[in-house]
Amino acid sequence: MPTSTPSYEDVAAAAARLAGRAHRTPVLQSRLIDRQLGLQAVFKCENLQRAGAFKFRGAFNALSRFTPEQRRAGVVAYSSGNHAQAVALSARLLDIPATIVMPKDAPAVKVDATSGYGGQVVMYDRYAEDREEIGQALVERYGLTLVPPYDHPDVIAGQGTAAMELFEETGPLDALFVPFGGGGLLAGSVLAAGALSPDCRLYGVEPESGDDGRRSLAEGRIVRIGTPRTIADGAQVTHIGELNFRILRAAGPETVTAVTATDAGLVDAMRTFATYMKLVVEPTGCLGLAALRTHAAALRELHDLGGLRVGVLVSGGNVDPARFAELLATRGTLG
Ligand SMILES: *Cc1c(COP(=O)(O)O)cnc(C)c1O
Repeated sequence: MPTSTPSYEDVAAAAARLAGRAHRTPVLQSRLIDRQLGLQAVFKCENLQRAGAFKFRGAFNALSRFTPEQRRAGVVAYSSGNHAQAVALSARLLDIPATIVMPKDAPAVKVDATSGYGGQVVMYDRYAEDREEIGQALVERYGLTLVPPYDHPDVIAGQGTAAMELFEETGPLDALFVPFGGGGLLAGSVLAAGALSPDCRLYGVEPESGDDGRRSLAEGRIVRIGTPRTIADGAQVTHIGELNFRILRAAGPETVTAVTATDAGLVDAMRTFATYMKLVVEPTGCLGLAALRTHAAALRELHDLGGLRVGVLVSGGNVDPARFAELLATRGTLG
């Protein structure tokens, strides 16, 4: 579906559309984490973004670019997670009708949040029906415009504004750790870094059980896997997007590296965020810190002059409070 590869100019244009609509989220630091890791870490807190995740950036940017006819007919998205809420909220702000296709067994909190933002929720049976077919039928029958969660130029450009704001605030960084699912956030970050911090090395962090992105970059083709089992539900994808892949490949292996984090590492990072930074971060949002912990020593060696400055994109904070408490209560090894 998507054809044009976005550039940094598109990220800058997205930033102008988002001004005053998205939060300019805080960049936080922790002396304790810095001391533990032997470097300076800066955290871009998209868990404090509207609707609780960076996904608002891409969704709002994409919906802002609808023609009057598209606005009148409405938008459709299929997602049980943060993209659904982001599209529903963006549509409400822009006065566009939104239809969200969600599995019947999606958590009630997510269904409620989506309908609370004014989205019309259409349920499907994830074992018997195909959501893409349902979405396509809505597109054909009612002329709705589908906004996919990552494989779309306007979505990628919007997601890139998070890293853009980070670099604007901190100046160039030596490395940036980015949660990596379908690759919208990572591809957007690559575009922002290319213009604002060209020597920054980007680490896309996937759950260990779903390293299709790492394999795709290594094999030079999009590798498809079964739905990975992980607590990082925001990165539970079976393959990365085509445009996303193109952007990551073009940046080259010396700029973009894919790494992984274990579920145990995510829980440790979640506890660290809660304990030392007083932040509620969902498991997927912990991918960056979990991987930074594993790679800190190797990074310090690359940079033996010291003064290493590393960014971490904290991608979202949407976790059910009971689930959050349950995960924090499990025993971890760190922090
Ligand atoms: C969607 C999502 C991701 C993964 O983003 P992609 O653009 O699909 O790579 C990471 N973290 C959170 C919280 C998300 O909602």
